[in-house]
Amino acid sequence: MKNSEERGGESERGGGGERPKTKDKRSKKQEKQKLLYMKKLIFTLLLITLVLSSAVGQRKILNLPDLPGYVTLKCDFHLHTVFSDGNVWPTIRVGEAVRDGLDAIAITDHIEYTPHKDYIPVDHNAAWKIAQVTAKENNIILVHGAEITRKMPPGHFNALFIEDANLLVADSAWNVFEAAIKQGAFLLWNHPGWKSQQPDGIPRMYSIHHKLIKNGYLHGIEFGNDEDYYPLVLTFCKAHKLAVMCNSDNHNVMSETFAPPEFSHRPMTLVFAKEKTSESLKEALFAGRTLAYTDEILAGREEFAEPFFYQCISVGKPYLENEKSIFFEVTNKSDIPFYLVNGPAGATPSITLAPNSVTRVVLSKKVTAPLIYDVKNVMTGENEVLKVELKY
Ligand SMILES: [Zn+2]
Ligand SMILES: [Zn+2]
Repeated sequence: MKNSEERGGESERGGGGERPKTKDKRSKKQEKQKLLYMKKLIFTLLLITLVLSSAVGQRKILNLPDLPGYVTLKCDFHLHTVFSDGNVWPTIRVGEAVRDGLDAIAITDHIEYTPHKDYIPVDHNAAWKIAQVTAKENNIILVHGAEITRKMPPGHFNALFIEDANLLVADSAWNVFEAAIKQGAFLLWNHPGWKSQQPDGIPRMYSIHHKLIKNGYLHGIEFGNDEDYYPLVLTFCKAHKLAVMCNSDNHNVMSETFAPPEFSHRPMTLVFAKEKTSESLKEALFAGRTLAYTDEILAGREEFAEPFFYQCISVGKPYLENEKSIFFEVTNKSDIPFYLVNGPAGATPSITLAPNSVTRVVLSKKVTAPLIYDVKNVMTGENEVLKVELKY
């Protein structure tokens, strides 16, 4: 150390010509190092930006097929944020929708219940305004909505496709319904059998519900909400030609609420739209082209459940035949398991078509009746399930 210090000192003290040269060399080296450092910094910053921006960039693929002539939009029309009693910021709902493989969501904060108001100013349009750009950038249809939150009757309702949620403030629930309808809203009756409002969990229609239907104001009912579902809703929807819906009603972080192994997906509504646009989505909802999908249950009108089932599965030609039996395969290319029960006499009484799997079926040659089964987990009525035939 001492030597080099001395040498350094000497050279500084030495010939004048050398001094600037050394300095030049040094500053060049320093500059090079600076440049390298800057490059590294820029690279690191770019990497951070990339990681941050790709955090919501991965869309999960849901294997839920389209229907002939329609695209299947996977939707959740019931979500809360900090702007009512939820615990997440609106843009987070968009990121969650992308990760969950959804096409459309509605943020539906409570109009009449804003427990964070001492910290967050009340503007019923705020969540929609904040999340709009993020939704557009992520190819998510963000439906402008709000939850009309009343005691039963009438209970809670989501007004979807509204223009101004701040106009849905009034003492009388009926006036709020009228204000929503005036804006062209799709009105959805939420969790009609919610135990806080119906302790036995059974949905009931009161005179105000009949009045809503009579006026053409009610367009859908939640068959599924969070972890609950209400078979009776299928009867209501059938009788009054309403859309069968299913939503998460989540107030917290989605991935923590509907996490594996208990859940493979959040509750959602499948909407059969002409194309993936807000206008088509709205048209399909008003036309009632939906199925509810919660846990392993699919529920809705037979006219949609039946073609949807046949889009999910395909039955192969027999690949082996011996004296006693015929062998063939059934492919289920969807994420939904199908539990086939009550098979014809002599045939396998039940067949489970596991999701994204091929199931081998061995059929006795003695069976001559068509292979008609009940699909235990596809509900087409309060006490009805879908009947299907395996044609090999
Ligand atoms: Zn509610
Ligand atoms: Zn809610």
